[in-house]
Amino acid sequence: MGLLSTEKTDWPPIDLGDGIVFGPDKTVMMAGPCAVESRDQIFQAAEFIAGLGIRVFRAGAFKPRTSPYSFQGLDHEGLALLAEVRERFGLKIITEAKDMTHAEAVAEVADIVQVGAKSMYNHALLKFCGRLDKPVLLKRFFAATLKEFLQMADFILLEGNRRLLLCERGIRTFEPQTRFSLDLSGAAVLQEQSRLPLVLDPSHAIGYRFGVPRLARACAAFGAEGLLIEVHPNVEQAQCDRDQALDHATFARLFAELREICALQGRELV
Ligand code: PEP
Ligand code: MN
Repeated sequence: MGLLSTEKTDWPPIDLGDGIVFGPDKTVMMAGPCAVESRDQIFQAAEFIAGLGIRVFRAGAFKPRTSPYSFQGLDHEGLALLAEVRERFGLKIITEAKDMTHAEAVAEVADIVQVGAKSMYNHALLKFCGRLDKPVLLKRFFAATLKEFLQMADFILLEGNRRLLLCERGIRTFEPQTRFSLDLSGAAVLQEQSRLPLVLDPSHAIGYRFGVPRLARACAAFGAEGLLIEVHPNVEQAQCDRDQALDHATFARLFAELREICALQGRELV
């Protein structure tokens, strides 16, 4: 294909310190709510995640909502809360930059900058991420082919940043009863064609909490360098992606199961 992202080179390790490495014998769990909603909500969520021994906390301050009438995120105020969470709980933060109006601010707080599915074609943002000295997670747009996804990955790599994570989070199919369809076939192709670490996101794929645990177990068995799962301290009150958020008890049980499944693959879930 002639793409940088498909070169059979060994990319620099994505090592966040303290044993958090996206690598051949480790899978990194990134968990937390979809969005930062309030100080109480985000501190409760972070305390729970840190209490499970998980080291990477996810939550969005700048939310790319489908409807302009939905909660849009706390923006800079949300980012400031994430900075506090980072300090207080010693968690690494993955959070999304939607566009260039706030990308710089996000990059200052985030340990991993997330480029969301809907921003996969935002060239200015991709190039900005390519110039950062920190890891970037690029999500596949739900209507992008694998080639288009890898081409967008190249926009980042070509700027010099080689610490890039590819994330499969579900594509749009003809099926209306799931939000998206997790493309594990495509994920296998990505693993075959690219040596960039792969992250699987079962939450956004199915979109409904009843299916998230079994899909997550399939993702752990599949063998990926990272997992991204949404969990909320009060699922009924979640202001963003409410239907897919796992409650704390369910997530704690699932995390224990995923650890065992990863261990069977020779991977430590960290
Ligand atoms: C998210 O991670 O909350 C998110 C908005 O995901 P996606 O870009 O995959 O829709
Ligand atoms: Mn979400």
